[in-house]
Amino acid sequence: MIIAFIGLGNMGGGMAANLVKAGHTVRAFDLSEAALERAAAHGCTPFTAAREAVAGAEAVVSMLPNGAIVRAVYTADVFGQVPAGALLLDCSTIDVATAREVAEAAAAQGYTMLDAPVSGGIGGANAGTLTFMVGGTDDGFVRAEPILKAMGKAVIHAGAPGAGQAAKICNNMILGGTMIVTCEAFALAEKLGLDLQTFYDISSVSSGQSWSMTSYCPVPGVGPQSPADNGYQGGFAAGLMLKDLRLALEAGAATGVPLAIGGRAAELFAAFAEQGHGNTDFSGIIETMR
Ligand code: NAD
Repeated sequence: MIIAFIGLGNMGGGMAANLVKAGHTVRAFDLSEAALERAAAHGCTPFTAAREAVAGAEAVVSMLPNGAIVRAVYTADVFGQVPAGALLLDCSTIDVATAREVAEAAAAQGYTMLDAPVSGGIGGANAGTLTFMVGGTDDGFVRAEPILKAMGKAVIHAGAPGAGQAAKICNNMILGGTMIVTCEAFALAEKLGLDLQTFYDISSVSSGQSWSMTSYCPVPGVGPQSPADNGYQGGFAAGLMLKDLRLALEAGAATGVPLAIGGRAAELFAAFAEQGHGNTDFSGIIETMR
């Protein structure tokens, strides 16, 4: 299949490489020359404009920073440029309202567009083991599934347009909250004189267990390999966690759902980012507590 890929950063770079490995022809565009060069090294064909990359494509996949950019790229460079009938898949994490609006605009132009945000981080993007949460029509999902399977281990239809983004921000709000409280628990356990490996051995098989503890333990040398073992570098940036929490809070305000823990987690990650840790892995927040 001929696929245009827009946004070849930390996540998109690995995802596009996996599409090439699966036998697709990938026409790549990114504003960053370095990102384009890396994509070319992985077998993508680089283009210097999005509208050139999408011309002749049967599907478009995008992995961009935020909703305003997604809206601008699709409105200015994809709609009307990509052939009729093309499948449009936005894998960025953006707000539910923008995802719905852009999907509606796509449908008005005769395209099928789905939101398909991911979980699994840069490791999952490189290894092709992402989880995709997909919002869109049943027909669109059936067409998207084989493309997304080339980049992920799980592809789940969450519901109508925007439902993928809804699942993503709810999931990441759980992640933000459990990471904060897991860090607090380790800091408290330490001050109470517990050995942290011993506390991990107990809590990881008790009711305090969560993904934040057993797959991404914030304490160096405890649990499986995680960014904590690498100086809190190269994982999921605190600034991106803050972005996702803010999307959840906006959605909570719009729907009238009180988000006390999600709100507090956002405040703590905002303070951490303001201290110059926006690019530090989000589990590094434990250092403000120990
Ligand atoms: P990134 O900043 O590394 O990559 C974004 C890329 O988009 C950059 O290469 C940038 O040059 C490019 N770009 C920006 N504006 C553009 C435009 N107008 N046209 C073409 N290219 C443009 O970010 P990332 O970590 O790859 O994240 C991308 C998306 O994936 C975000 O929405 C993020 O929330 C989401 N996400 C990230 C992770 C993670 O662990 N990094 C995990 C899940 C989801």
